[in-house]
Amino acid sequence: MDKQLTGKPVATKLKNFIKAKIEQESLQPTMALIQLGKDPASQFYVENIIKNGAKLGCHIDLITLAVETTEAELAVKIQDLNDDVSYHGIMIQKPLPRHIDDTEINSLVSPLKDIDSLNPINLGKIVLEADGFLPCTPFAVWLMMQYYGIDPQGKKLVILGRSAVVGKPLANILLWKRPFANATVTVCHSKTKDLEMITQEADILISAIGVPHFVKPDMIRDGAILIDVGINEVSDEPGETKYVGDIDYNGCIDKALAITPVPGGVGTVTTAVLMANLVKASLGHKYPNKKIDGFFDLIFNA
Ligand code: NAP
Repeated sequence: MDKQLTGKPVATKLKNFIKAKIEQESLQPTMALIQLGKDPASQFYVENIIKNGAKLGCHIDLITLAVETTEAELAVKIQDLNDDVSYHGIMIQKPLPRHIDDTEINSLVSPLKDIDSLNPINLGKIVLEADGFLPCTPFAVWLMMQYYGIDPQGKKLVILGRSAVVGKPLANILLWKRPFANATVTVCHSKTKDLEMITQEADILISAIGVPHFVKPDMIRDGAILIDVGINEVSDEPGETKYVGDIDYNGCIDKALAITPVPGGVGTVTTAVLMANLVKASLGHKYPNKKIDGFFDLIFNA
């Protein structure tokens, strides 16, 4: 196994699959991306999604609403997009302004267009191992594991972080009774006692907590596989900022069997994953009476 598990070859494989699927099926995957206001940090992500989507043959309509838009007004907009057959996918850029309840809004997006997999129905399907959408970051981690042949079956797998977008869905995916799952999963969070004792036992350690360089070499065992989901902006020298992961990469690389870098690791795969979900939604629209089962297997058997 490579020591450094980079995201680029995984993203390339996924992008090739997306382009081929669009061509084979003559799809025109189209999504609505809703943003409230123009937060500069969000703007970067939004532009990135539109640009990268276009390169793959996916069309993204950006719908910018005023930051003062009420929850009721946003709900009406979502309903319009749910009813509009020209859109196969809907994504709402986060964070939303504080006056809007995320959970309420997530539950309004049609489960068939919920390519970000935030609707409770799609999250529930993950627990039930039923066919739906997978949230982008957990899906990206799972694809990285498949690409690099990291089969967690029977392994002690520890996840740091229990958010509804990363830690919790990822824990459930890795518990599935299927290849590249079947792990023995432990999830840690800010109230976990003796966290180091748990991480030291991990065959595979996945960190998604948002604390720069939290995982130090004395917290891992020899030969552990380390997957870093964290993306943390830190100041290097006065006026210089850079992004680092949750794992002390330089400190841990010698002890680990393999490690994902930040940047250049999991984050590299996530936008392509969103487009894979859009392609799946667009296939669902084309074949409304056919289950698009086995979509995840198709990617790596392509
Ligand atoms: P989040 O919602 O803030 O959740 C953080 C989780 O980490 C919580 O469960 C929290 O515990 C736990 N935590 C925080 N400090 C901890 C500590 N010192 N010890 C143990 N647990 C601790 O964050 P998120 O949205 O899941 O994101 C996590 C990280 O992943 C961030 O760096 C984010 O930028 C990154 N991210 C990357 C991608 C990607 O594409 N690579 C996508 C999404 C997020 P409590 O629940 O007890 O508060």
